[in-house]
Amino acid sequence: MQKFDFFVIGAGSGGVRSARMAASFGAKVAIVEDHYLGGTCVNVGCVPKKLYTYASHFNYDFEDSREYGWSVGETTFDWNTLRDNKSTEISRLNSIYENILTNAGVEILIGHAQLVDANTVEIDGTRYRADKILIATGGWPYVPDFKGSEYAITSNEVFDLDSFPESILIVGGGYIAVEFAGVFAGLGAKTTLSYRRELLLRGFDKDLSERFTTELERHVNVLLSSDIVEITEDSSSKRLVKFGDGSEISYDCVLYATGRKPRTDNLGLENTDVTVNSGGFIEIDENFQTSEPSIYALGDVIGRLALTPVALAEGMNLARTLFSDKPSTLDYSNIATAVFSHPNLATVGLSEEAAISEVKQIDVYESDFKHLKHTVSGREERTYMKIIVNQESDQVLGMHMMGSDAGEIIQGFAAAMKCGLTKQQLDSTIGIHPTSAEEFVTMRDKRA
Ligand code: FAD
Ligand code: NDP
Repeated sequence: MQKFDFFVIGAGSGGVRSARMAASFGAKVAIVEDHYLGGTCVNVGCVPKKLYTYASHFNYDFEDSREYGWSVGETTFDWNTLRDNKSTEISRLNSIYENILTNAGVEILIGHAQLVDANTVEIDGTRYRADKILIATGGWPYVPDFKGSEYAITSNEVFDLDSFPESILIVGGGYIAVEFAGVFAGLGAKTTLSYRRELLLRGFDKDLSERFTTELERHVNVLLSSDIVEITEDSSSKRLVKFGDGSEISYDCVLYATGRKPRTDNLGLENTDVTVNSGGFIEIDENFQTSEPSIYALGDVIGRLALTPVALAEGMNLARTLFSDKPSTLDYSNIATAVFSHPNLATVGLSEEAAISEVKQIDVYESDFKHLKHTVSGREERTYMKIIVNQESDQVLGMHMMGSDAGEIIQGFAAAMKCGLTKQQLDSTIGIHPTSAEEFVTMRDKRA
């Protein structure tokens, strides 16, 4: 039986990083993958999603250019070109992942892995022994059980549709739902978003979510407090959706973006002492160790923050702790995140609601304005920025933005917040003019 120091199950963001780092510290490492090298982010997540958002934004750019003197002529969009070019790029990335693992000395195994015991993994009948095993198996889209749920697709299928849907219903109000609402509306589909509550993006700053909903409604038919009872097929093979209020509407495509569940099916957890919580996520301690001492877990399967950079950081931390002489623990504070919808949102630190419950005395600074570009383009889109400050210490607790390049802008401020940024330091920073980002260093008036 082949033996390894470290056996990683799942070649996604967290698994690849951990395997590669462990090998660089001298460990004998294997990694196993049953779908695609690079995992969710590369194949059916961040990367294809971002490419599709670029595609969708051209539509607005063509429109905006007119008042700047351009005559763009008739524009058409070809889904097959976008889809196939995306697939070519992803195949290139798959090869890059293969190369970086091989060059690092990691043995790549293809197949579905199951745990036989605390130190043994089986892949298609072959068993491997390992001192330490890492579960980095990620997540899988969840679709609630209801009549006709088989007619719904998920984010796994949406990138590779055979044809472009002229009309699409997207169900959910989280990251994936609003990002795809932005994508399909931009690409020209008649797009409807159905969400069960009153405010999209639960957990984000309320002012940001409210303003975002207003902006999204410019391009998307947003149905709030809406639920779906049943989906059937109509006489023209469209998806006939029956809503809770009794209305029935047909769509070419119905996309469910109703969250993701940890992927622990057929993993053989029952052959070990690994425990899972009520949501099915693997329970770990601060060093990513499960209740089975030789088995570790990280990334989406542990249900902390389901973001690629978090999985990467967890993978790096674990490899350092297990195989280098510089063990480290991960600081989860002030992790920035962006939602690549239209417009973009980005946020770091506490929402106003969380700050009030944690700190009580806060000052809020906000700015709501029309982007310079749209003073000429004529687009009615607003940009919104908000800073939340601890009244007593002057420390910046949260920064939030809705508008072009929000992710690019917030990333830099996240680094500053990591260094303990105060409002006084923001005030003493000279802006870059003319930018939207300079608003963050020029807001002087507290919200009353
Ligand atoms: P994964 O990347 O899911 O990797 C797990 C791997 O394990 C998979 O390749 C899987 O096939 C494999 N596997 C599972 N079980 C087994 C088994 N038993 N045997 C062998 N192999 C197995 N995050 C961002 O930060 N920014 C974004 O813009 C962003 N956009 C996203 C868009 C979408 C549509 C989705 C779905 C997610 C997005 N995410 C984004 C989230 C990000 O993709 C995940 O947080 C990240 O991929 C988690 O990494 P991971 O290593 O935990 O799991
Ligand atoms: P989210 O958890 O963000 O959102 C799920 C949505 O589905 C919520 O609005 C939720 O409503 C709703 N929902 C859940 N169950 C049901 C149900 N039974 N019926 C109707 N609606 C339901 O999950 P996503 O799938 O959008 O994304 C998964 C994760 O992937 C994200 O949380 C994020 O961490 C990551 N991601 C990150 C991205 C980025 O960084 N840009 C992009 C895409 C994904 P409610 O609010 O009521 O719970």
